[in-house]
Amino acid sequence: MADEKFDAIVVGGGIAGTVASYLLAKAGLEVMLVERGTFAGSKNVSGGRIYSHSLEKIFPDFGREAPVERKITREKISLMTEESSVTLDFYSGSLGKQGSDSYSVLRSVFDQWLAEQAEAAGVMIVSGIRVDDLIVREGKVCGVIAGEDEMEADVTILADGVNSLLAQKISLCRELLPSQVSVSAKEIIELPPEVINDRFHCQDNEGTAWLFAGFPSGGRTGGGFLYTNQSSLSLGIVCTLSDLVEGDKSLPQLLEDFKQHPAIEPLVKGGKLVEYSGHLVPEGGLAMVPKLVGNGVLVIGDAAGFCINVGYAVRGMDLAVTSAECAAQAVLAAKDKQDYSEVSLKEYETNLDKSYLMQDLKLYKNLPHFMESTPRIFDGYPRMAADMLTDLFVVNGQPAKPLLKNMFKHVRKIGIANIMRDGWKGVRSL
Ligand SMILES: Cc1cc2nc3c(=O)[nH]c(=O)nc-3n(C[C@H](O)[C@H](O)[C@H](O)COP(=O)(O)OP(=O)(O)OC[C@H]3O[C@@H](n4cnc5c(N)ncnc54)[C@H](O)[C@@H]3O)c2cc1C
Repeated sequence: MADEKFDAIVVGGGIAGTVASYLLAKAGLEVMLVERGTFAGSKNVSGGRIYSHSLEKIFPDFGREAPVERKITREKISLMTEESSVTLDFYSGSLGKQGSDSYSVLRSVFDQWLAEQAEAAGVMIVSGIRVDDLIVREGKVCGVIAGEDEMEADVTILADGVNSLLAQKISLCRELLPSQVSVSAKEIIELPPEVINDRFHCQDNEGTAWLFAGFPSGGRTGGGFLYTNQSSLSLGIVCTLSDLVEGDKSLPQLLEDFKQHPAIEPLVKGGKLVEYSGHLVPEGGLAMVPKLVGNGVLVIGDAAGFCINVGYAVRGMDLAVTSAECAAQAVLAAKDKQDYSEVSLKEYETNLDKSYLMQDLKLYKNLPHFMESTPRIFDGYPRMAADMLTDLFVVNGQPAKPLLKNMFKHVRKIGIANIMRDGWKGVRSL
């Protein structure tokens, strides 16, 4: 027998779950949010930088009110080999303009702020409880089971993150494939704000988002990331699981080597390690999106595979917010009709289709396969760039060679046909 009945139960106190529960409670529904961590955000990991466009629709002033770290005004991308780093450095005030602004965040702090907004809107947050199963009667999800407790609701929203065991239990999705997820290891390294400003050429409250390809993931599918926070750096690596198991280095070792790289070591020098975390990242794109709706149930955020990694930017948090909003709108429409069937809740899919989220996932649908099938991106090209620039800049008393001949020597190692094919496939998948 159920102990209590709610209009909606949301499983997972990450960005998707807290936003969905906030919107439903704000509209007057009785909502319970169940989070297995001791508080919302305690188990959550991002690089991370949140693009504000979707959250600003819900909390217009969140850039000022929420505990964000720094507004990102500098983007960097580096191709790395063991001893070199070739970097594209883009600074622009337009990166910080309202609507296209983005902020580095620390999830344990940021998610708590979101949870506070949800609680203030009337959400009952239950932390430290893991949902073990769903109550299913006559093919309809009627609530959740946590230990000995059963809690019923008209609708249940699964926001339990990547590898949603609950969605798997009711056959909305299959077990994840190792090629569809990356594994990450991340450190938060404390440094004084003025040291960060000096090392990253930042103004107060402005920051850098920096992605790395090549050496950080050991030349395998994946990469490194570095985000400047107010008084810390978020430094980490991601590596596709299927690739990682074939490599000879463990993830912690890859991260350690990345930290020791001559281009990184001076940036983290003197810093104090204050947090170490590991997490999965859904990287299969559209192909890994599960069945999103069932009778009395919807799947949102990472649990729905909503994450896009285009190599120069990672986006999961803004998608989590949008999926939460689309789901909340569908639940409110279902409540009006008093119909929580799959057919009624399919409005969630319609809302998603109308949003940028599905359009972007469709646009980038071939990208995961391109990355997976083009290992040169993570090995050959970083090396080619480093070799070319070495030849360009090294002056050692030897007679100089014609520039074209010098460059062509390195191009030949990969092959012009391969470069053209990769370029064509890469551009088409973007
Ligand atoms: C290393 C890394 C870097 C990233 N960088 C970025 C970035 O820079 N920008 C960006 O936009 N995105 C980034 N992402 C992706 C982003 O973090 C996710 O897309 C986002 O966190 C998804 O939010 P969510 O609420 O769906 O899931 P989560 O944040 O994972 O939240 C799921 C919640 O559900 C809870 N939960 C799980 N199972 C249960 C259960 N059975 N019962 C109760 N609670 C449960 C978990 O404890 C957790 O709190 C990154 C991810 C990683 C791992």
